[in-house]
Amino acid sequence: MLSALKEIAYSVAQQPDLTLALKEFVSGIKHAMSTQCCSVYFADEAHADFVLMATDGLNQSAVGRFRIGQNEGLVGLVAKREEVLNLPMAQKHPSFKHAPEVKEDTYNAFLAVPIIHHRKVLGVIVVQQKAARVFNQDEESFLVTLSAQIAGQLAHAGAKHILHQAEIAHQTTRLHGIASAPGVAIGKALVIAPSVDLTQIELAKVPDAQSQIRLFHHAVISTRKEFRALAKKIDSGLDTQTVAIFTVYEQLLEAKSLGDQVEAKIKLGWCAKSALKLVIEQLVEQFMAMQDSYIRERASDIQEIGTRVLHHMLANERRQVEVHEPVVLIAQTVTPTVLAEVPKELLVGVVSLTGGASSHASIITRAMGLPALWGVDDLALSEVVGKQIVLDAYTNTLIISPTKLLLNEYKTLLKNENLLKSKFLQEYDEPCITLDGEKVNLLSNEGLGAADDSIGGKSTEGVGLYRTEAWFMQHTQFPSLQLQTQWYKKLLKWYAPLPVTMRTLDIGGDKALSYFNFSEENPFLGWRGIRISLDHPELFLDQIKAMLWANCGLGNLRIMLPMVSDVEEVIEAKRLISQAYDELVAEHSMPSLEYPCIGIMIEVPSSVYLISEWAKHVDFCSIGSNDLTQYLLAVDRTNSRVASLFDSYHPAVLRALHDIAQQCVAVELNFSLCGELAADPEGALLLIAMGYRNLSMSVASIGRVKYVLRRLKTADMERLLADCLMAATANQVHQHLHQFILSQNLSEILYSHFQRSHQ
Ligand code: PEP
Ligand code: MG
Repeated sequence: MLSALKEIAYSVAQQPDLTLALKEFVSGIKHAMSTQCCSVYFADEAHADFVLMATDGLNQSAVGRFRIGQNEGLVGLVAKREEVLNLPMAQKHPSFKHAPEVKEDTYNAFLAVPIIHHRKVLGVIVVQQKAARVFNQDEESFLVTLSAQIAGQLAHAGAKHILHQAEIAHQTTRLHGIASAPGVAIGKALVIAPSVDLTQIELAKVPDAQSQIRLFHHAVISTRKEFRALAKKIDSGLDTQTVAIFTVYEQLLEAKSLGDQVEAKIKLGWCAKSALKLVIEQLVEQFMAMQDSYIRERASDIQEIGTRVLHHMLANERRQVEVHEPVVLIAQTVTPTVLAEVPKELLVGVVSLTGGASSHASIITRAMGLPALWGVDDLALSEVVGKQIVLDAYTNTLIISPTKLLLNEYKTLLKNENLLKSKFLQEYDEPCITLDGEKVNLLSNEGLGAADDSIGGKSTEGVGLYRTEAWFMQHTQFPSLQLQTQWYKKLLKWYAPLPVTMRTLDIGGDKALSYFNFSEENPFLGWRGIRISLDHPELFLDQIKAMLWANCGLGNLRIMLPMVSDVEEVIEAKRLISQAYDELVAEHSMPSLEYPCIGIMIEVPSSVYLISEWAKHVDFCSIGSNDLTQYLLAVDRTNSRVASLFDSYHPAVLRALHDIAQQCVAVELNFSLCGELAADPEGALLLIAMGYRNLSMSVASIGRVKYVLRRLKTADMERLLADCLMAATANQVHQHLHQFILSQNLSEILYSHFQRSHQ
């Protein structure tokens, strides 16, 4: 059964469109289960019913026509209950609905399972048989497993299909994701091709074979050049074995090996990328089937060549994209590099098919003040190129090809939003003092912003978090002590005499350095932050020396250690900091060198329970609510599948943050918070109620947070906090917050306020 299951999933994946995929699907199941009929129904939300999408066994002319209401018949029942239905005589069931047009009268046995993706019922698979019998456990679990396996693929293909239908009917498509910052964006879809991987290429046919052949030839020429350049580079290092590999690669690129086959496929109508994928996959399969182990190993060479050629094809395609109007960037995975490819002046919004709203790429978009949606995994990239897009990050919605009416409403919304922004701006330089006189320091988070505005933020209180890894990520090797000193000096000088909290290198997790590559099963639980620094004291000492040196004559540096989970880590890091200091003083006769305050990030659950220990060893702590949420809730902050579970308003997170504040007050440890929670007005007001008076956030968020806090009294926020701490779920917390904002006449900052105006 397992191989049948894999085969069906594979053949469905190979089909270029939904109709063909579903045909394969039902026939595959009918065959594998040796039954007489298999059908698949899809939910049509617009009509509140299910439509028969494919069948092998029922009347073919009912396909696409026969519909059954959302709550009707056995199909409706399976969808409603979200569970399997296994009946020996379907007609006897009270929910059975007779539908002569499908011609199912001869069937008795009935087995149906729902297709569920992201908790939503997409459709129902039905298997029928003439004999009156109950399907056995194996058959039942086969269908359940297949349905679960295929759900994601069908959701994707279904969305593509709906998009086509919508286009025909001039209708609008809505998809959902998770927003990382509120806002609305209107622009044309700019699709940046996925990172180079043949498995991600969707098979597609195009009419113009000549242009595809040209695209392929150019890519081959570029690949050949690249191999020659690489071979030359390595040749000077005398690694002859590796040089030989490139010669083999070049031979494989020759027309008779690869080129002729790809061209032949293009002439059959496949686009260049699809043709390359088909040929490479076939060659890899052939090589893998060989007896000779040497030849078998060449399969990976073929794969590598395919990847390289594809890379050049995409690069050539990409170069042709010219941006002359506001665009919403859409990509499989939006990374800092992808963001950098789009001219900032024309980038108005971002959509990523993978990733969570708390990934580091998402923090960058927030710092850039861009609305963004993450985890919109039902989107078919190739289908949205150049289409009109509305990104509504208030309602987590991506709207493709909106109607004129809807577009105009969103234009008005955008205008209102800009008016509100200008209101925030008017108070930007005012101090952040609550209505009852509590002063709050709003500091800035910097480093992961757009590369060229890493210095230039306008926080009037200083920097609460400088993510130094951002600088390291923009280089091709570890920067020298001198270069680091220059960077740090520039930043410290810019802000002096205001404090600048520099966090030591926090790589690992989802932040990789191209020149320090390693891969792990669970990167967020692995080699990250301080763990790497302590394992590489030579790198850590260089960074500390550069910071200390840069601070000379300025004195506004504070050093912060990321990801600490154990007191001994801090003791060791402090020993190294002191060593760096002593060495600088001794080697460069710098007696006046200032010793900075040293602090830690509290972002790992163990550190929450060590506050009294931290007070003995460090001068301050800053809470990283992003990681603390991730680790407390066991939700990977970059995984779109669980993105909806990542919620810093979860009562467990709020209670932990409250405890931390109380403990810090008790042991007189200076504390602040620099995670994204502080950047939400609702989060900020809860933190103020808990006793936090130092909040650090992206510069783009300071105006909104300040605007709200200046209109509230601490006593009111404290009452709200008491309710939120008693809440059992994050949803209850959100409801309390919503009510509170309304009661304080601040509805203009609520997302629902915007929503209401265009409903
Ligand atoms: C955090 O974890 O909240 C934090 C501020 O650090 P980063 O987002 O860089 O991991
Ligand atoms: Mg962190």
